[in-house]
Amino acid sequence: MKQAVFLDRDGVINEVMSERVEFVNNVNDFYLLEGVASAIRSFNRAGFLVFVVTNQGGVGLGYMKEKQLEDIHKKMEVDLKAQGARIDDIAYCPHKPDEGCPCRKPKAYLLKKLAEKYDVDLSASIMVGDREPDILAGQKAGCQTVLVNSDSDDKFQANAHFTDLRAAVPWILTQKSEGKCQSSQTVLDNFRKQLEERFKKGYVIDSMSKVEEAANYWFCAGAEYGAWEERFFSKRPKNFTNVVPRNRY
Ligand SMILES: [Mg+2]
Ligand SMILES: [Zn+2]
Repeated sequence: MKQAVFLDRDGVINEVMSERVEFVNNVNDFYLLEGVASAIRSFNRAGFLVFVVTNQGGVGLGYMKEKQLEDIHKKMEVDLKAQGARIDDIAYCPHKPDEGCPCRKPKAYLLKKLAEKYDVDLSASIMVGDREPDILAGQKAGCQTVLVNSDSDDKFQANAHFTDLRAAVPWILTQKSEGKCQSSQTVLDNFRKQLEERFKKGYVIDSMSKVEEAANYWFCAGAEYGAWEERFFSKRPKNFTNVVPRNRY
């Protein structure tokens, strides 16, 4: 059986309720969140199947046609593919929120259908979402659950909580039971060594507490270590402090 990462869409993969986007009812409102492509690439490389599982009540409510939703998903796949990231399948609920359909999260239906179709071991898989229905659906399906958002005090008993998908990557990769990833501890240990050498040479990182954050960045960047390194050591990302995982493993 296979392991999967199930991703909620809005607020996990793409912007929603941001400065430029309210809800995504149009292909022009679709903006990938920072670090998402690299995160998905890491899951691809680790051997996870990657699925999108999304409630799209806007279809049932008449804010968009199913055709527009499919166009949005096409754009999502194209934008991700342009950065080397692959979505294996997308499942959505198009029904009105109060319709009582069988598929809308917090129900586990969409996850279970995908698991059946792709021979996925749900108990070895992970559901990632930014809201309670995502976590509940994951729990009902028997998955590990990861809450990603920066403003929720309630964790809904998720197994882990991070500010965004990028920050959740190391934790998720540690759930991979076999395959191509080094164990996260080995990666972190190696990385610490590299950083310490760099400190000695005068690179600018202002405290050792930044090392684990940095390690998470690196882990996330997967094979793009060169690009990451340049980014980290030449100038700190402007939202650097916003990506500190709340849970460390
Ligand atoms: Mg969401
Ligand atoms: Zn539905």
